[in-house]
Amino acid sequence: MSRENSDKSGKQHIRLRFYEELNNFLPPHQRKMEFVRTLPEPTTTKDLIEGCRVPHTEVDLILVNGESVTFDWMVADGDRVSVYPVFESLDISPATRLQERPLRNPRFLADVNLGKLARFLRMAGFDTAYRNDAHDDELIEQMLREDRALLTRDRRLLMRRVVQKGYLVRADRAADQLDEVLRRFDLKSIVRPFTRCMHCNARLEQVDKAKIENRLKPLTKRYYQDFSKCTGCGRIYWKGSHRERLDPKISEILSVSGPLPDR
Ligand SMILES: [Zn+2]
Repeated sequence: MSRENSDKSGKQHIRLRFYEELNNFLPPHQRKMEFVRTLPEPTTTKDLIEGCRVPHTEVDLILVNGESVTFDWMVADGDRVSVYPVFESLDISPATRLQERPLRNPRFLADVNLGKLARFLRMAGFDTAYRNDAHDDELIEQMLREDRALLTRDRRLLMRRVVQKGYLVRADRAADQLDEVLRRFDLKSIVRPFTRCMHCNARLEQVDKAKIENRLKPLTKRYYQDFSKCTGCGRIYWKGSHRERLDPKISEILSVSGPLPDR
């Protein structure tokens, strides 16, 4: 690939095109077409793409003049850059995929606006940290320390270089958000309903009815035999309670068969 700089002013003229839903991040006049970015100096693909307000965590494949490159590739004058999102079902190997999918270690960190999504992810069995008072820097620090994928609605947060795994949540309803996250990280086949406490994120373990009988309401005691207890906060869960409270979409994702929460 030519690395020559043909513009005597030193300016870099880069031809760019974004594909599929990445266009939603762009202003209308740049959508679904090639446009030119003029930069004062050579830059990385990450900075070029995020200069167009597209977080790097949303990008799975970058082609520069037809060859797949990573986020630290330096683009130069005259380059033609094509940027693709995470495809649900397109085999793009042997090109370099930039996002891990499915996640080998599906652990999440939900930002302060995604509390309900965090509870649904836990309900589906995924380790999901959440605090409603965390500042951006604290979130980033926890994400790194605990090796979690960051879920947020703040695209600036996802543009930080240290964020390797993350996702910009689009939907407004938490049930739709859960569906989105499971699709994005290809996790639907490993959903494990009701193995984790939706309140505190600790694991649930089976518990003998006799040991917790004194905590059950009379009807629960009469109709249910199988119970789980949270190893963190001690809440009791059982199969079949409060099923009607679940959104139909959540019920479908979880194919409700495990114990439901007691409250
Ligand atoms: Zn708990």
